[in-house]
Amino acid sequence: MNKKRLVVIGGGAAGFFCAINAAAFNHALEIIIIEKTTKLLSKVKVSGGGRCNVTHSCFSIAEMIKNYPRGENFVKKAFHQFFTTDTINWFGKRSVQLKTEVDGRMFPVTNSSQTVIDCLMKEVNNRSIQILMNREVKKLSMVNDQWSIEFANEEKIIADFVCVASGGFAKTIQFNWLKELGHTIEEPIPSLFTFNIPADPIKELMGISVEKAIVKITGTKFSQQGPMLITHWGLSGPAVLKLSAFAARELHKVNYDFKIAVNWLPGYNEQTLREKFSLLRNELAPQKIVNRNPFFLPQRLWEYFLQQSTIDQNIRWADLPAKQQNILIKILCAQEFDVKGKTTFKEEFVTAGGIKLNEIDVNTMQSKMVPNLFFAGEVMDVDGITGGFNFQHAWTSGWVAGKAIGEMT
Ligand SMILES: Cc1cc2nc3c(=O)[nH]c(=O)nc-3n(C[C@H](O)[C@H](O)[C@H](O)COP(=O)(O)OP(=O)(O)OC[C@H]3O[C@@H](n4cnc5c(N)ncnc54)[C@H](O)[C@@H]3O)c2cc1C
Repeated sequence: MNKKRLVVIGGGAAGFFCAINAAAFNHALEIIIIEKTTKLLSKVKVSGGGRCNVTHSCFSIAEMIKNYPRGENFVKKAFHQFFTTDTINWFGKRSVQLKTEVDGRMFPVTNSSQTVIDCLMKEVNNRSIQILMNREVKKLSMVNDQWSIEFANEEKIIADFVCVASGGFAKTIQFNWLKELGHTIEEPIPSLFTFNIPADPIKELMGISVEKAIVKITGTKFSQQGPMLITHWGLSGPAVLKLSAFAARELHKVNYDFKIAVNWLPGYNEQTLREKFSLLRNELAPQKIVNRNPFFLPQRLWEYFLQQSTIDQNIRWADLPAKQQNILIKILCAQEFDVKGKTTFKEEFVTAGGIKLNEIDVNTMQSKMVPNLFFAGEVMDVDGITGGFNFQHAWTSGWVAGKAIGEMT
């Protein structure tokens, strides 16, 4: 009997994981990975600043899924099959030990993404998985119950199963070869970016960060709390990146021209801060307001707030005029900024959008539209925030697809 053949399109994290695990579940499968470039696992290589943030130290599915602005319910079901503990064990069994950093990100103990690449390459070689590079798949079609896979150079190969693990594409047109199979594409748009604030002097404070702030997009329900960093262009840091991811579609619609309100003192609202100011005026009465910053904000930021509130720096707390006090309270609790444009975060971007999830069976990653067609990784309409969530989705979906294909034959 002829061997069944699986062709995996894409030599990235999801494609490798699908191929390796399909081989592990079925030794009789012939497996070929097709990669359009001359490099394999190129994003794994550069990820996490060259250290590869493999996954996140989170062991509750309910908590984990909160980090996926799109695909939350889809990954929830998939994580029941392959979760963070499985990733840690999978790599651990192959001598790739992971360590956890204070913010929960997990990296190889070697601090090198090459360790992950070496492990995946070793698995591929040991399992005799073939790799064809420099081949861009242009067309997929069914011919006599088999897949015909056509490359840009017009070469063709035949397969019984295909797993598309081609990553995200920036433009809808790049999905056309998948659309032709009957799939619907959620328009790809950028996620994970920082906010440009060209008209505000706050940029002069670049490099200053606060441990906790709340950033809210005015007129929407989108709000995030966390560390925030002032940059040369505007605002960045985990609170801003997370907000950019969760509001990616809405911000795209308004062409990245919107207003935000920042609460620099998340423990307070206008009412409670007003009460605090009444106490401070007594407690700190003889002290100069500029020298006595009671909220432990960076001193330069405090001086900027005083300047923005037109407060004379030599004034004492006791003499703070009511009008200026009100402006300062408003700035501390809800400073408004006009955002005009975005900046990519350290080239670390993911695309929101891709194959519509209701067209994929989450238990197998198989297409509901076409038999023997599977998906893995970022090509689907799933994306996570930074922290190892995108790779976890790549491992999970690759494993689920690989297992399903392995068990089908
Ligand atoms: C700079 C950077 C840093 C990142 N850091 C992290 C991190 O630390 N942690 C984290 O969780 N996530 C990180 N991410 C996101 C993460 O890298 C991706 O989510 C993940 O790589 C997606 O894996 P994938 O296999 O689905 O797609 P990809 O890694 O994009 O792989 C897809 C492959 O398919 C190939 N391909 C595409 N079309 C075709 C075709 N038609 N024919 C043949 N081959 C094709 C591509 O060339 C590519 O090699 C980072 C992303 C970037 C850009």
